[in-house]
Parts: sequence; C-alpha cells; structure tokens
Amino acid sequence: MSAVGKAQLDPGQEAQLLDAIDRWVEKEVRPRVREYDHADRYPAQLVEQMKRLGLFGATIGQDYGGLGLPATTYARIVMRISSVWMALTGIFNSHLMLALAIEKFGTEAQRRRWLPRLATGEVRGGLALTEPDAGTDLQGIRMHARRTGGDYVINGTKTWISNGIEGSCFALLVKTDPAAEPAHKGMSLFIAPKQAGFRTGRKLEKLGYKSIDSAELVFEDYRVPADHLIGEVEGRGFQQVTGGLELGRINVAARGVGIAEGALALATDYAQTRKTFGKPICEHQAIQLKLADMATRARAARLLTLDAAAAFDRGERCDLEAGMAKYFASEAALENATESLRIHGAYGYSKEYDIERLYRDAPLTCIGEGTNEMQRIIISRQWVRRNPAG
Ligand SMILES: Cc1cc2nc3c(=O)[nH]c(=O)nc-3n(C[C@H](O)[C@H](O)[C@H](O)COP(=O)(O)OP(=O)(O)OC[C@H]3O[C@@H](n4cnc5c(N)ncnc54)[C@H](O)[C@@H]3O)c2cc1C
Repeated sequence: MSAVGKAQLDPGQEAQLLDAIDRWVEKEVRPRVREYDHADRYPAQLVEQMKRLGLFGATIGQDYGGLGLPATTYARIVMRISSVWMALTGIFNSHLMLALAIEKFGTEAQRRRWLPRLATGEVRGGLALTEPDAGTDLQGIRMHARRTGGDYVINGTKTWISNGIEGSCFALLVKTDPAAEPAHKGMSLFIAPKQAGFRTGRKLEKLGYKSIDSAELVFEDYRVPADHLIGEVEGRGFQQVTGGLELGRINVAARGVGIAEGALALATDYAQTRKTFGKPICEHQAIQLKLADMATRARAARLLTLDAAAAFDRGERCDLEAGMAKYFASEAALENATESLRIHGAYGYSKEYDIERLYRDAPLTCIGEGTNEMQRIIISRQWVRRNPAG
C-alpha cells in the first residue's frame, strides 16, 4: 500500500490549501526567519502552527488521521515553504518518512498505534540511518539488535539525525544478523521511542539548515518489545528504507525547487532596484544572462519534480524520475543561490539580506537522500537497465 495519493483533491481544493500555506508563510514565517536562523533557535511557535495546518500528517492516510495528500500537492507545499525557509520543511519531511515506513511496511496494529499521534504532531520524529562510519554505504552500519525473549536490546550510535533532540520517536535501522551475506539481509527497522537506554548526544553545528536540530543518538542496552520491529519480520529493514526513497527524493527535489525559485525571486527584485552606470543592473547584459539561466533552471527543476511526483501518484515506478528530479533540482538550488548572491554584490554577503541563508542552506540538498555523486551513478544504471541494447 502507498501512504500517499489516497486523497483526490480537485484543483480548487489544492489551490485553497496552497493559498493557506502561502498566507501562513508570508504572515508568520517570512517576518521571523532571519531571527530564528541567526540565533539557531528551534521555531517552537511555528511548529505549533504547522500542527494546526496538518503538516505533520500531510502524507499520512486519512484512515489514520492524516491529510493523505498526493505527492504532487505535497511537493508544491514543500516548494513554497522552502522558497522562504527550507529548514522548516525538515521538521516534517523526515517525520513523514518515519510515518511512511510504518504505513507502508508496518502491521495494521502498528499503523493504528503510531500513525494517529504522528499525524497530529503530538509525536514527532524522523529517520535514523546514518552512523559515524556509514552514510552512503548503509550496509556498513554497526548498530545491532539482539533478541532476548519478547524484547530486542539495541546498542550503537547514529549521527546527523534530523529532529534528534526535539523529536521523540525514530525509525531506527539496525543489524539483527550482523553475519548475514549480503549484509542487507540481516538489517531491520525498528520504531524507537525515546525512553531508558536512548539518549541524545551532541547537537551538531552546521553551515546552514539552522534551527532544526541535527544530533547524535546513543543507544545503550535500549530495550523495546518485539512489536516495535516494523512489519514484525526480521531482515527487511534495508528494503523498507529503500522503499521510501522515491518519496524522499521528491521531497528533497521540492526543497531544491523552493530554494532555486526563492533565490531567483530575490535576484529579480534586487536587479530591478539596484542601479549602476545610470540604469538598473537588470539592463546590463551580464546580469540578464544570469537571470535567464536562473529562471530556466528553476522552471526545469519544477517540471522534473512535478513529473516525478505525478508518476508516483499514478502508482508507477519512478525511481529514475525521482532521482533525476533530486539531482537536477538540488544543483539548480546551489547554482541559483550562488548566482543570486553574486547579483546582490556586497549585500549578498551581508547577514541583513536573505540570500545568504539560501546560499548556506542549498548545499544540503546535494547531500541528503543520496549524494548527487551517487545519484548520477544510480540514474545511469537505471537508464541503461531501462534501455537494453538491441
Ligand atoms: C544536515 C544534515 C541532516 C541529515 N539528516 C539525516 C537524517 O535525518 N537521518 C539520517 O539517517 N541521515 C541524515 N543525514 C546524513 C546524510 O544522509 C549522509 O550525510 C549522506 O548519506 C552521506 O553520507 P556521508 O556523510 O557518510 O558521506 P560518505 O558516504 O562518507 O561519502 C563521502 C563522499 O564520497 C562519495 N561517495 C561515497 N560512496 C561513493 C561511491 N560508491 N561512488 C562515488 N562516490 C561515492 C559521496 O558522494 C560523498 O561525496 C544528514 C546529513 C546532514 C548534513
């Protein structure tokens, strides 16, 4: 079963929803973002408003208390918020990846138990995969779970986990059979609420993506009942994580589109008001070339992302499409942020202008949900597989 695409919105309903998001972004987010970002402070007040907007249940099925939005609508929401403040989307994006794992691969009892509280935002969390020695190569993780009677006892450390401090529940990738060959057959995914044996290590200091907490999570003889194993069958964790990759990549692609469009909007305004040599800089050819490239990149990124999301909503295989969207949109974010900063001249380097935040946030989109180096390798492999010779 797919966790998204169940609610069918007519264009009027979608427009109404996006309008509500726009009004919230302009009224509540834009006026406060610089202060939160520079102080690296968790936006607790905005999180309460996000709960009321239903964002923590955006893609969770309506049967479990969520909005059950299709991926296309969800992507448009992420684009709009990210055009002003991408970090805010991280608070519900990885939370929804936890929900997706439970909804798609959990037992009915697990869905009924966990999803309603995730949908309201009463329980918030994320996805805990990465370890100090294993990021891209997830099969190299060391965290392990040992079965003792009706429980599992888990030991190990995760790092770079979004919402690690503020969140209270995580999808935790572990090895249940460290000797398995190939390694992925010995991996399992657990629902891990914060309780005895689970502590938050250091909060990680970052270039950008401020205010959302990224942290180390330490598990020492952490004990959970066997009904916390997603699907209640060992050895499926790697598949369950990769089963969420398409939506995860559409997610990051939408963030990239938001930054690419936000950077373009800032440059477009600035280039019409800043004058040099007696005319607005948008009338100098060097700036016109930059704006043309930026506008084209942002539009192409949007179309690729919505194309992948539409394929996802139709229930089609879209790993290639989602990978291309993620790769292109994240590079577009980085390039547009850099070009916009340059168009702003010295003011692009000032902390009093918003472009510096987009410039610091953009590189993350090239790392998350599979680095772009890996993304290109995956795209190429899939491309060849879909296009056999002869
Ligand atoms: C702000 C932030 C938030 C994050 N949030 C989360 C989270 O919520 N949950 C979570 O689990 N993780 C999270 N991560 C971790 C992220 O998913 C990993 O950083 C990412 O998967 C890359 O892993 P790595 O950093 O270990 O890089 P490595 O795997 O060590 O890669 C280093 C470099 O080598 C390249 N490389 C690696 N293998 C190959 C190969 N086979 N061929 C070619 N190039 C290769 C990579 O592309 C990269 O350029 C977050 C990271 C950041 C920065």
